[in-house]
Amino acid sequence: ANFPEDPFVLVVQNLSPMLANELLTTAAVAVITEQGSATSHSAIITKASGLPTVMGVVGALELESGQTLLIDATSGQVFVEPSEEDRAHYAEATEPSTRVLQVLPDLSDLPVALLANVGSSQEAGNVLRSGSRGIGLFRTELLYLGRTEPPTRAEQVFEYSKLFARMSGKRVVVRVLDLDSDKPLPFLSPAGTGRYANRGLQVLLANRQVLVDQLEALALAHSYYPEAKLWVMAPMVLNAEQAIEFARLARSVGLTRVGIMVEVPELCDAKVLKQILPEIDFVSIGTNDLTQYVLGKSRHDTDLGLSQARSPQVMSAIKTVVAACQKARKPVGICGEAASDPDSAKLFVKLGVESLSASPALIPQLAAELLDSGKVKRRWLPKA
Ligand code: PEP
Ligand code: MG
Repeated sequence: ANFPEDPFVLVVQNLSPMLANELLTTAAVAVITEQGSATSHSAIITKASGLPTVMGVVGALELESGQTLLIDATSGQVFVEPSEEDRAHYAEATEPSTRVLQVLPDLSDLPVALLANVGSSQEAGNVLRSGSRGIGLFRTELLYLGRTEPPTRAEQVFEYSKLFARMSGKRVVVRVLDLDSDKPLPFLSPAGTGRYANRGLQVLLANRQVLVDQLEALALAHSYYPEAKLWVMAPMVLNAEQAIEFARLARSVGLTRVGIMVEVPELCDAKVLKQILPEIDFVSIGTNDLTQYVLGKSRHDTDLGLSQARSPQVMSAIKTVVAACQKARKPVGICGEAASDPDSAKLFVKLGVESLSASPALIPQLAAELLDSGKVKRRWLPKA
C-alpha cells in the first residue's frame, strides 16, 4: 500500500498481519480497525512495536480525515474531537506511566519469570530494555508470510542468529511455524478437518520438509550462539501422538529443550498430558486459542475480550495443565495475551506457573502490578 510520509492514523475495516507488518516501517502513529480483536495476530504485531492499536471500533469507517482523535489503546477507546477535559485528563494520566518506562524494574523478586513475545529479531532491543528474562514466544510466521516458497535454511539461520546473538545467557523460546487459516501459505498442503483444520503442528507434520528445515536452521544458528538458551516448541498440538512425534524429530536434529503449546481443550486432560510430559521439557499455554476453543467462539469476535481467559471453564482447563506439569516437574508458562492482563496474570501466578510471556512494551507495567500485589517487595533499578 501507499502510505503518507507525514504522521497519520490508519483506519481500516480489517488489518491483515501483512499490512500490520508493513505499517511498522511507515509514519503511522496509531491504527484503528472496525473489525477484529485484541488477540488477533495483526494487533499482536503492531502492539509489540508500540504502535497504539484499537481493534473492533464500531463505526470506525465513519471517521474522516482532518478530525482530531485521542486514542487510548490501553482501554480500547477512541475519542473523536476530544473535549478540553479529556485532553487534560490524558495529559495527566500518561505522565506517570512514561516515568515507569524509564526505570528498569528488578524482577528477581518475582515468583515467575517475565518473558517477552516477539515476531522478529528486530525486537531484540525492546526485549532487553523491557527488563524481561528473555523471550517466551518468538512467533516465526513473519519469516514465511507473503512468500511463494518457504525461506531457505540459510535465510532462517541469518534471522535466528541475529536474535540469539543478542540473547546471551537468556532464554529464547522459539515456536515453529503456526499456519493459521487466516494466513494460508501457497507452499504448504492443507491438513486436518473440523475446527482445527489447517492450523499448527498437523500442517507441519504433513509438510515435513518445511518443519525439518526450520528445526535444522534453529539448531545450526544455536551452534553459532550457544550462550542463548534455546527452547523450541510446537504450536496447536492436537494429541499425544503429534507431541511425541515432534519431540523426537526436534531431538533428532540436536535440539535439547523441546516443548509444546497447549491451545486446545483436548490436551487439557491429565491422562493425555501424562503420556506427553515424559517426552518433553516444557509446556506453554496459548490462552488466545485456548479461550476461543474452550468457549466455542472465534478469536476474531469483537466481544472476545482478554478477561474471558479468566472464565471458569478456561481457568479450570489451565489449572489441569499446570497441575500435571508441576507433578511431572516440567516448567509451564502462559504466553497468550492474557499473560499481560494484570488481573489474569495474578491468577496464573497463584496457580503456580513458571513464566508469563507478554509484549515487551507491556512488561514494565505488568511487573509493577505484580510487585504491588503484595507478596513481593519492590526494588527499582536505574536504567543501565
Ligand atoms: C495463543 O494462542 O495464545 C498464542 C500465543 O498463539 P497465537 O496468538 O500466535 O495463536
Ligand atoms: Mg495460538
